[in-house]
Amino acid sequence: MSKRIAVVTGATGGLGTAMCKALVDQGRQVIASHLPGEADTQAAQAWQAEMNGAGYEVAILPLDVTDFEACSNFVATVERDFGAIDVLVNNAGITNDAPLKKMAQDQWLQVINVNLNSMFNMCRQVFEGMCERGFGRIVNISSLNGEKGQFGQSNYAATKAGIYGFTKSIAQEGARKGVTANAVSPGYIDTPMVRQVPEKVLDGIIAGIPVGRLGQPEDIARAVAFLTDDNAGFVTGTNLSVNGGQYMS
Ligand code: NAD
Repeated sequence: MSKRIAVVTGATGGLGTAMCKALVDQGRQVIASHLPGEADTQAAQAWQAEMNGAGYEVAILPLDVTDFEACSNFVATVERDFGAIDVLVNNAGITNDAPLKKMAQDQWLQVINVNLNSMFNMCRQVFEGMCERGFGRIVNISSLNGEKGQFGQSNYAATKAGIYGFTKSIAQEGARKGVTANAVSPGYIDTPMVRQVPEKVLDGIIAGIPVGRLGQPEDIARAVAFLTDDNAGFVTGTNLSVNGGQYMS
């Protein structure tokens, strides 16, 4: 059988990179997406060279997940050049924090657009084909803060909580067709973003994690690989919290 085609959005970041490696290890042909624009394209090319140099063959294409038309074109390109998409990991996401008292409408809309509208923009393109072919694996990356809420992140938490309702709904629509949809909710993961937190604050965060450490990107990638496995067809509509026990839902 030819390799299954797996797409990871926002793939060149901290978690996306580990996901791409895990999917390659799983025998998938991985198509990574990166933000368009000159600087992002250069960074993406360097990322791809590093991945290939480390033995991880990945293709990479530009995509702004907030743009429905661009998502449609991206999927058409992947289907033409590689084949139908079997696995979709909606990983692209941003934060733009402020307490509600200070949050501008733009801040709210931007985060909704990138983190939540992207789910529709991408799933809408691939879901029907997956159902027709009788196989599909969709994983939507949520967050611990979508499960519990977080001071200063009402926009981010709303999008990440919204992912659960979306995921459970399409899981029901795909269940008889071999298409699963699940969410993964990372806790605090050792990525450049989290390492920027002042040391004292970070120590406090780690003290609140029962496992006693930050997560590693590979912890999240393993969860994604589990849910996208061909043999994971009985796991659908669920949320897999990967947070070291910080929040037990
Ligand atoms: P990251 O910033 O390293 O990666 C996010 C990627 O999304 C980047 O490559 C960025 O270019 C891309 N992106 C942003 N806007 C985009 C757009 N409009 N179109 C396409 N791509 C876009 O962050 P990360 O830590 O790797 O996070 C990955 C996912 O995991 C996000 O959804 C994030 O919310 C979630 N998450 C991360 C953590 C953590 O501790 N790092 C915790 C919980 C959830």
